[in-house]
Amino acid sequence: MASKKGNLSINSENMFPIIKKWLYSDHDIFYREVISNACDAITKIRKMDMMGEYTLPEGFKPRVDVVLNDKEKTIKITDNGIGMTAEEVEEYINQVAFSGATDFLNKYKDKANADQIIGHFGLGFYSTFMVSDYVDIDTRSYKSDAESVHWTCDGGSDFEMEDGNKAEVGTTITLHLSEDCLEFCNEYKAREVIEKYCSFMPYEIYLSKENEEGTETIKASEKLESDVVIEEVHPEKKEGEDKEPELEYKVRRRPQLLNDTHPLWAKTPKDCTDEEYKEFYRKVFRDYKEPLFWIHLNMDYPFNLKGILYFPKINMEFESIEGTIKLYNNQVFIADNIKEVIPEYLMLLKGVIDCPDLPLNVSRSALQNDGFVKKISEYISKKVAEKLAGLCKTDKENYDKYWDDISPFIKYGCLRDDKFCEKMTDYILFKNLEGKYLTTPEALQINKAAEEEAAKEEATDENGNVVEAEVVGDEAKASDADKKEEDKEPRTIYYVTDEQQQSQYIKMFKAQKMEAFIMNHNIDVPFMQQLESKNEGISFKRIDADLTETFKSKTSKKAAAELEEKEKELSEKIKKALKNDRLTVKLEKLKDKKMSSMLTVSEESRRMAEMMKMYAMNGMSMGDFGNEGQTLILNANHPLVQYVMENEDSDNTKMIFEQLYDLARIQNAPLEGEAMSKFIARSNEIMMLLTK
Ligand code: ADP
Repeated sequence: MASKKGNLSINSENMFPIIKKWLYSDHDIFYREVISNACDAITKIRKMDMMGEYTLPEGFKPRVDVVLNDKEKTIKITDNGIGMTAEEVEEYINQVAFSGATDFLNKYKDKANADQIIGHFGLGFYSTFMVSDYVDIDTRSYKSDAESVHWTCDGGSDFEMEDGNKAEVGTTITLHLSEDCLEFCNEYKAREVIEKYCSFMPYEIYLSKENEEGTETIKASEKLESDVVIEEVHPEKKEGEDKEPELEYKVRRRPQLLNDTHPLWAKTPKDCTDEEYKEFYRKVFRDYKEPLFWIHLNMDYPFNLKGILYFPKINMEFESIEGTIKLYNNQVFIADNIKEVIPEYLMLLKGVIDCPDLPLNVSRSALQNDGFVKKISEYISKKVAEKLAGLCKTDKENYDKYWDDISPFIKYGCLRDDKFCEKMTDYILFKNLEGKYLTTPEALQINKAAEEEAAKEEATDENGNVVEAEVVGDEAKASDADKKEEDKEPRTIYYVTDEQQQSQYIKMFKAQKMEAFIMNHNIDVPFMQQLESKNEGISFKRIDADLTETFKSKTSKKAAAELEEKEKELSEKIKKALKNDRLTVKLEKLKDKKMSSMLTVSEESRRMAEMMKMYAMNGMSMGDFGNEGQTLILNANHPLVQYVMENEDSDNTKMIFEQLYDLARIQNAPLEGEAMSKFIARSNEIMMLLTK
């Protein structure tokens, strides 16, 4: 071939200064682009071999060599792939890429941002100009009649192409680094960048220094053809040994292998051992704490996607968890945490996703609007839900063990992703007061037995004698038609936010064999609201929110009517005595005969008050909001209550009312300030009565 000079036909005067400027932030990706081109070239030549159009030489080992020379200021990237003929260089390097660039310039003249250029417009190879004064290509095509080609270009729009002298099939790209980018031929920097992008590329990548001064000593039997021998070493015979020691060589430091060509995610899950998963986790995330468990995604249809998601121990508040999901395209690293592809809440995990169908390095805004990308994201979410559900169904024991760690993540997922929430609802666990974990359906059913038991109980009169069978109570009122609807019946999950503070209610619950669950994480409040709004029939009530029929003893209709009558009278008196109009007073016959009074705070009012408190913390006035929704329950089975019922106007009655109210309050929350002082003074006064 006669030497050829040409002018690259593009509209812009000189596009490289523009590209250089736009790509400023991501200079190091040229390594990825050139090395992945090299891997593609190897894939192609192996395909040719498989199709019988070419025969690979005996003992062919695909490899990419990155050779640094910090004196010459060069980086050479050599592959033993398919190579290019002069026509192909003309077509792929001179024309195609440049037309891509022209397209780009026309389309994105003003609004481009860096990541929209490379890859998307087939400019991979040209990224080398971001760091080079000029770049050479030396290539020899696998085609038997092809000549080798030498191409050089200084990053302007002129190139030179002539016959080359490359002897082996394959390609060498030589970057002559510009002064401000010399760091890239520093061995440590090169290793860091290549390991970042190329750790799992499919062919072996070796790093070496052309002007290497280091040496290593190897045994004669380990010597490779490529080793450069500096001197022979004759080790001394050790005492007591009869055999002559093996000859050794001092050789120039060998090229270092940088990648793992068979990443774990590419293997079939059943062939991977736990140790391999843990090892991979340590290597990729440099995290030496063991992951809890992992999910291996592996699918070929309707799109290709493989990956491993690790659940790290995340026992703290969810805000402070930071995960990493590394995205790959055919084992080529793209970026961390691309939120368009990976559901946001999964970013709390650590993992790798390899999706060859993904457009390589296109712009973020293009990804956002890509229906395909959205499908991938949905698929990942679906798979994670399925795996968790599967774990819950088949290995509940371990799922229980993981629950405390993974629950903030799952709850966050439920808040962020309706579909995930729907799939996970039945596999959310609730931890009861004994530390046992129940699923949502179990938690919803758990109190049913206690309620039914209560409904079956016979009504008794004051003396404990059984009275007429007709009983009062919601359960008992249920007609047959209602019974059929039973399963759809709204059910309540009772919860505890503070075991200490709510201990009185817990005691009551336990006495009636009722269950409540611990919900004490920040995320539980919005999470419970989410479950309620997504699932008709599920409602959450704090353990002190109301008094179910279970706690009341059955009573005859007549007695109930009398009680109601009495309640009205008493209510007026108490409200007056306590100077509290907003208080609701109820007179009930409680099974626990030792309990004189108790307080409930309706769930809605409490939630509202909590919200107001949050606003108040942000500086908004709360007004006199706070004691809304309180119900004082007086136990008609308790002698003290019976006394005030009969002696409403005695001298001591007001004091008893006040004390009953305070006793009820302290079971619910500590008394504060003035209320506390009054309570103490009154208690002393009452004890004084004992001395009279
Ligand atoms: P892309 O890789 O996106 O196609 P590039 O600009 O990186 O764009 O490369 C353009 C073309 O040049 C490639 O598609 C390939 O045909 C050819 N090419 C680049 N590097 C090599 C190589 N090392 N060996 C053989 N062909 C190559």
